[in-house]
Amino acid sequence: RFITLEGGEGAGKTTQARLLAEAIRAAGLEAVETREPGGEAGAEAIRGLLVTGAPGRWEPLAETLLHYAARVQHVARVIRPALERGAWVVSDRFADSTAVYQGDGQGVEAAAIAAIHRATLGDVAPDLTLILDLPVEQGLARAAARSARNRYERFDHAFHARIREGFLRRAASEPKRCVVIDAARPAEAVAAAIRAAVAERLGL
Ligand code: C5P
Ligand code: MG
Repeated sequence: RFITLEGGEGAGKTTQARLLAEAIRAAGLEAVETREPGGEAGAEAIRGLLVTGAPGRWEPLAETLLHYAARVQHVARVIRPALERGAWVVSDRFADSTAVYQGDGQGVEAAAIAAIHRATLGDVAPDLTLILDLPVEQGLARAAARSARNRYERFDHAFHARIREGFLRRAASEPKRCVVIDAARPAEAVAAAIRAAVAERLGL
């Protein structure tokens, strides 16, 4: 099974990916915990290009293609092999982040992103996507409090508001795949909501 965690800055995706992977292991199953951009050596090198430098470093379309170059490596070398041996994969971000950050956030046409996805990955899609939602101000405050900062946190408030709306719109348009989780709560409460959603949707 392939599960992705999505959401804006400071939503708690990394923490929840770790907790969910632990819960899967506690059930006696193999869990592969991974992230995007990155999750594989070449993809992590591409991540370095994406998260450093000035906010305007990349043309939005070039940035989209870099995310997809990284994603092709990640799917071919980590995600697909894991799923084929029966492991559960938990990824901190995946394709919805590109649709939202480069699409809604930076104006790349949704149809162009969908066409790139289809041409590079075909119908690869998560079985379940957990969208961690919280107010922009709260997420940015959490992100500012941690040490590792990145280029995207320097985009303006309106950008982050488009990101939040973009994720909620995707969740509404794909209700079978997506569940919105209220991420403004303490981590343990968010983890419990995630476990309930995974139990209901995937029977774990
Ligand atoms: O916070 P995280 O570790 O996920 O950092 C990755 C950064 O890359 C985030 O700040 C996120 O905004 C950005 N990103 C992006 N477009 C994507 C995926 C991630 O702008 N498709
Ligand atoms: Mg994180």
